[in-house]
This record gives sequence, C-alpha cells and structure tokens, in this order.
Amino acid sequence: MTNQPLCAVSSLHFSVPDLNHKPLFGSAPILEILKNINLEIPRGSVMGIVGESGSGKSTLGRCLVRLNSPSEGKIVFDGKDIAFCGEDEIRPLRKNLQMIFQDPMSSLNPRRKIGQIVASALVACGESRAQAKDKALFALDHVGLSRDFANRYPHQLSGGQRQRVGIARAIALEPKFIVADEIVSGLDVSNQAQIIVLLEKLVAELDLTLAFISHDLSIVRRLCDRVAVMRAGEIVEQESSDNIFKNPSNEYTKALLDAAPLPEITPGWI
Ligand code: ADP
Ligand code: MG
Repeated sequence: MTNQPLCAVSSLHFSVPDLNHKPLFGSAPILEILKNINLEIPRGSVMGIVGESGSGKSTLGRCLVRLNSPSEGKIVFDGKDIAFCGEDEIRPLRKNLQMIFQDPMSSLNPRRKIGQIVASALVACGESRAQAKDKALFALDHVGLSRDFANRYPHQLSGGQRQRVGIARAIALEPKFIVADEIVSGLDVSNQAQIIVLLEKLVAELDLTLAFISHDLSIVRRLCDRVAVMRAGEIVEQESSDNIFKNPSNEYTKALLDAAPLPEITPGWI
C-alpha cells in the first residue's frame, strides 16, 4: 500500500458546457478542458505541474482535491477512488486534501484575526475550540510567524506573511496532500525564495505530498522531484525533474524551456 502513489489519476476528463457557443435553442456544446489526464504522485514527493496560461493547470489542481468534479476517469487518493464521491463521502477526506491559492488576500477573511482564520479551518473539521487554538498557534510557529501574528488582521501583513498564513491554514489540518496553485507568483524574488525554502522544510518534516503548480520553471526545478508538462488540457510529458530539465523529450517541453532560459543553479542560489 505504501509503495502505491498517494494520488493516481487515470483517464481523467473535465468538461463544461460552452456557454459562449450556446445556440438560441437547444443545449450548449461541450468544452473539454482536461483531456485524458494520467498522473501519478508518489508519497512524500513534490510534483510540479507546469504549462502556459490556460493549459488547465488550475482545473487539474482543483480536480485533485475534488473542488472540481471530473466528467470521466479515476482519482485514486490513498487507495480510494474519489472521482465521483458525493459531498458526504468527501467531507471526512477534506482535511487530507488541501489547496493553497495564489492570492492570499482574497482567501483570507479581512474581518477575522489570523489566529481565528487558521483555527476556524480546524473547527470546521471537528476540532474543539481549545484544541483548534493550540494547533493554529503551532502551525503559525511552523511557518515562521511568531505567535503575536495570531492577533493581527490580514491587511496588517505583507504579501509574504499572508502567504505564510495560507500555508499555516493548510498544514494546521495535518493533511497528507496539498495542491499549491501559483502560490509564489505574486511575491517578489526574496519572498519567493523564503517560501520555497519553507515548503522544502515542511515537505521533509510533515510527511507531506505536494502538487506545485507554477509557470516559473527555475522554481519548479529547484523544488520538484517530478514534473508534468501541460498543454491545451493534456499532459504532454511527465518525468523526473532532472530528465525534464536536462533531457526533455517532448517538442513542446523543449519550446517551453527555450522560451524561459533558466539561471544556472548554484549552491546558495535561493
Ligand atoms: P491555467 O491554470 O493553466 O492557466 P485553467 O485551468 O485556469 O488554466 O483554465 C484552462 C482553460 O479552461 C481556460 O481556457 C479557462 O478559461 C477554461 N475554464 C476553466 N474552468 C472553466 C469553467 N468552469 N467554465 C468555462 N471555462 C473554464
Ligand atoms: Mg491557473
């Protein structure tokens, strides 16, 4: 069981009605956003998901944690196919399927203090208030925010600190799996570097598995063990990070790498 990937996706499709081309009478044609996705994410690994804007990365990320319901296929998470689980069946699994978003401000309630924001995720998963408060403070510690941050409001924090809160809220639940969708894209280079170092530490310490969605190939190269390259709703290549960056076999991957020359990675680069 433990040699099995934590998450194994097979023949996954995601379609929506194409409302832009809906005829006056009759139903809208179907728009296929994800096509025949096959993806394995080994336990304890960091899987990079890269591709140009609109290639389907976020849609796939949302399917992996079942914020999107696929139209076809399997999503076997920890041995159980969750692709078509109803909300009742998904609810107990939610704690293990966390997602962190690009814009921390829009996902943090501006009227609640940071401590309450992190604790409320725990209360929603059934923890007592006292336990939730302890775990929230512990999670804030873990992401490098001292305990007095618990009493601040989101607007009193910098972008990097807010993204740390987003990470604290996810790890407070002690999840097995986190999807991080472009979480460093809005940050400056030095904050990006600090968050990447933090993610590396958390993956090592917390027995986490991470899907890291990004269009920044130098960060993906630094952080990810394996990389899936997406184009127009499909995965065109899926390989170890080393192979993708040193020896890409797919023409599109080569073009993507050529379009974004990578800085030479030296020790201490980040
Ligand atoms: P990425 O994250 O790689 O930029 P997305 O997954 O956000 O790509 O989107 C892929 C494509 O699917 C885009 O063209 C987007 O407009 C479209 N799309 C995603 N979700 C929906 C939806 N619910 N309805 C219609 N189109 C959608
Ligand atoms: Mg996206």
